[in-house]
Amino acid sequence: MTASAVARRMAECCRQLAGRGLIAGQDGNLSVRLGPDRVLVTPAGLIKALLKPGDMVEVDLRGRRRRGRHNPTSELDLHLRILTHRPDVGAVVHAHPPVATGFAVAGQALEAFVELGDRLEPYLVGHDAWLLANHGAVTVGPTLDAAWIRMESLEHASRIIAAARALGHVQGFEAQRDRAGKERKQGG
Ligand SMILES: [Zn+2]
Repeated sequence: MTASAVARRMAECCRQLAGRGLIAGQDGNLSVRLGPDRVLVTPAGLIKALLKPGDMVEVDLRGRRRRGRHNPTSELDLHLRILTHRPDVGAVVHAHPPVATGFAVAGQALEAFVELGDRLEPYLVGHDAWLLANHGAVTVGPTLDAAWIRMESLEHASRIIAAARALGHVQGFEAQRDRAGKERKQGG
């Protein structure tokens, strides 16, 4: 995919995330690896649902801006840490999905709970979705579509678990989680 095609897909993805209620206003950010030391990211401070392809910012893996008229996302460090430590990852999606984030705010485990920066690093290998304590969620994938779908799935699973807990019954949840873990190990 050319850089401009990636930028178009990123703008579309922002609208999809907003449309599904996974981000609001200026929340969330995306990054897509363009080459060995080239990453396209969403800009800081703009309303995501209104982003145009030309608003995206190209940086290198050290975070230096190479192209673009805006500043890169304020959560650039999170994206670059993941892209640096996970050569298999082509795209990172950070959003504030309300139900999954509710679990994070309540301190209830879905998977690993981690925070931004250094504390995320021990969990980077072997996981493709993380809840950030009191904040939101991060998903990754080989492509932007894969990372985005993972974010939708995370929120969807969270809704199901929340609904089950509201009904006072979470039978089978452990088994489902074990199954999901196995599928992930198989790369599914
Ligand atoms: Zn955030």
